Amino acid sequence: MLSAELSAALDELSRGGLGRNAPLAPFTTFRIGGSAEYLAVIRHLDDLIAALTLLHRAQTPFLLLGGGSNILISDEGVSGLTIVNQCKAIHWPEHSQQNEQIVVEVEAGAPLAGFARESVNRGLAGLSWAVSIPGSVGGAIVGNAGAHGGDIASVLASARVWREGRVETWLADKMAFEYRSSRLKRTQPGQTPAVILSATFRLRPDTEGRAAKQARAAIQQRRRTQPTEKSAGSIFKNPPGDYAGRLIELAGLKGCCAGDACISERHANFIINRGRATAADVLALMALARREVWRQFGVLLEPEILLIGDWPSSPPLPDPRVENTR
Ligand SMILES: Cc1cc2nc3c(=O)[nH]c(=O)nc-3n(C[C@H](O)[C@H](O)[C@H](O)COP(=O)(O)OP(=O)(O)OC[C@H]3O[C@@H](n4cnc5c(N)ncnc54)[C@H](O)[C@@H]3O)c2cc1C
Repeated sequence: MLSAELSAALDELSRGGLGRNAPLAPFTTFRIGGSAEYLAVIRHLDDLIAALTLLHRAQTPFLLLGGGSNILISDEGVSGLTIVNQCKAIHWPEHSQQNEQIVVEVEAGAPLAGFARESVNRGLAGLSWAVSIPGSVGGAIVGNAGAHGGDIASVLASARVWREGRVETWLADKMAFEYRSSRLKRTQPGQTPAVILSATFRLRPDTEGRAAKQARAAIQQRRRTQPTEKSAGSIFKNPPGDYAGRLIELAGLKGCCAGDACISERHANFIINRGRATAADVLALMALARREVWRQFGVLLEPEILLIGDWPSSPPLPDPRVENTR
């Protein structure tokens, strides 16, 4: 429960937008999930920093979302405060010499794909792999998003990070990037999450037009290989030396459904929402895929998406290794 004073301040910082029991599904690419007890959509960086400062002083926990494209929110919703970060200014350098590397600063709520497309249109190389990846720049840094041979770790220069009431500048190394992960993604339950406010990227001139070509190829490949229905992208991380989608397909699970959630016919590592899927439906398919892949191939699939909110059981996903020994 937020105090009246904090509610009033957050209402002002979200420009009159503090919601109560507000549906979160519209803020996710899955279009699934219950309500936030409190919801603030913040669009200006100064307002975001002011809100974080107030929350820190009041020792009030919160959940921060970017584009909601790498998460499954429970049907029970999220207690307490959820902030949606829509601070999205991009500061392109005014003058740059031809053939010179440039550094561009972008606010963390900016959509990654839009930022990447604009960089390609400006004749810059470095982000052509990202032109079709949904979600925000902040979320992409947290998960070290990547595709088509590129990833955030290879282009990020630094990030401005809010942590424990202070704004710090972290050079990319401090993110301790791993495959689809960073030290921010590895935050333990109970730890106050650090918030990425903005980031700088080093981009080079696309002298031979290669980046533009790669961007076009990336868009076409996605159209060919990925479903167009609502989803959260890849559900499981690829296990070392293999592909989660290949194993799920080999286990015979393509097209399996639970309610309105189905394992995509086009790409078995995607679960799609055909309209009214619930988080429980998605979780049932995730548990099925983990159980069958473990039983048939002895490979444990680890979720790439984050399971967020209040779940009926803990942990929300059963461990297939334990189930099989029962
Ligand atoms: C169709 C589809 C295709 C996809 N393809 C790819 C792909 O090719 N490669 C890939 O890597 N991913 C892919 N994804 C997954 C997703 O797009 C990325 O993981 C994306 O970078 C997540 O960003 P987001 O803003 O949506 O994060 P969210 O889902 O909003 O949040 C994810 C996590 O990041 C945290 N977070 C968000 N913003 C901040 C911030 N500013 N500071 C601190 N923490 C923050 C949240 O608290 C949460 O823990 C795909 C998703 C979809 C739906």
